[in-house]
Amino acid sequence: MRVVIIGNGPGGVELAKELSGEHEVLIIEREEVPFYSKPMLSHYIAGLIEREKLFPYPIDWYEGKGIGLRLGEEAKLIDRARKVLITDKGEYPYDILVIATGARAREPTVEGKEHLLTLRSIEDADRIKALLEEHGEALIVGGGFIGLELAGNLAKAGYGVKLIHRRDTFLGLDEELSGLIRERLGEAGVEFHLDAELLKADENGIQTSKGYIEGKVKICAIGIVPNVEIARRSGIQTGRGILIDDHFRTSAKDVYAIGDCAEYSGIICGTAKGATGHARVLANILRGKEDRYPFELRSSIFKFGDLPIAIIGKTRGDGEWIDGHTKAFFQDGKLVGAVVIGDIKRAFSIEKELKEELYKA
Ligand SMILES: Cc1cc2nc3c(=O)[nH]c(=O)nc-3n(C[C@H](O)[C@H](O)[C@H](O)COP(=O)(O)OP(=O)(O)OC[C@H]3O[C@@H](n4cnc5c(N)ncnc54)[C@H](O)[C@@H]3O)c2cc1C
Repeated sequence: MRVVIIGNGPGGVELAKELSGEHEVLIIEREEVPFYSKPMLSHYIAGLIEREKLFPYPIDWYEGKGIGLRLGEEAKLIDRARKVLITDKGEYPYDILVIATGARAREPTVEGKEHLLTLRSIEDADRIKALLEEHGEALIVGGGFIGLELAGNLAKAGYGVKLIHRRDTFLGLDEELSGLIRERLGEAGVEFHLDAELLKADENGIQTSKGYIEGKVKICAIGIVPNVEIARRSGIQTGRGILIDDHFRTSAKDVYAIGDCAEYSGIICGTAKGATGHARVLANILRGKEDRYPFELRSSIFKFGDLPIAIIGKTRGDGEWIDGHTKAFFQDGKLVGAVVIGDIKRAFSIEKELKEELYKA
């Protein structure tokens, strides 16, 4: 069987890794470089790791696994009638086509947006790194996980960091947990500007609803936009992402979607952990095995400088500290979620417990 995968991010690569040896696998990727770790980009920008450490799989790894890789090639259209993928450089017949095109950073729309950078690719990271080394400090807009990761790592490396966030809580967490994040990153040197809305930017700083904040290097981390264009152009149903069912099937026969580009019941996964999880489950489904991805269970792990945090399941309502690192959330006396912070070893058993509960249902 010939499996063609669009996108060489964690979703695409994990799927290729799973299926190589069983099927003929080809990845089409528009970037020029082999797979790199996006979660490590802020470590690289901060100078905490070397650039080559971002690349776990060199070109010969793909060759060794028998995975075909076409870099610098953009998928343009899926000819569903002929079952052929059309790129800017050629045509590739498929038995199974998997769209793993990921997402891009949401661009700000304010006046002066040309002064704001975003971070998604290694090219973005190279640009930000060079500017930081010139100016020595950064102004980050957005208190999502990418903004917090970047802030934590830059502060750890000794850069001056200001973080502007439109709320006073982070990642949908309560005030207490958000306060802990603020405290730990504050101790590391991050200066917070909370409840502050981005209004406009210029060369020297950002005007917020709470005043003008100076900074030459300004990075906006305000969310993602799934890359759905190829699906839309090919007549496949899309919403915010490419619409899939619980078997990752799109509205087109033999065309699947995984990772950040896919939308299941209103959910976009948004994490590398999610994308690789999708890939492993899809590989089993394509093998004809019964498997199911727990879309309903949010499960993410991040590291903000020296502060690791795992967010699992439902984390709203009144939580209860069950040890020095774990705040657990219950509904009708039953565990429904937890935030594990600082020492995250316990996160794995909690995730397992919640998953088992879900599969029982
Ligand atoms: C700075 C940063 C830090 C992060 N930190 C974490 C973290 O700590 N933990 C975590 O779990 N997640 C983290 N993430 C999120 C994680 O990286 C993404 O969720 C993950 O990369 C999604 O994987 P994906 O395979 O779906 O898509 P992507 O990684 O976006 O890969 C999609 C690939 O498809 C290619 N592509 C798109 N369209 C086409 C086309 N038409 N033709 C050919 N190629 C195409 C793109 O160039 C890209 O290489 C972070 C992300 C960033 C940017």
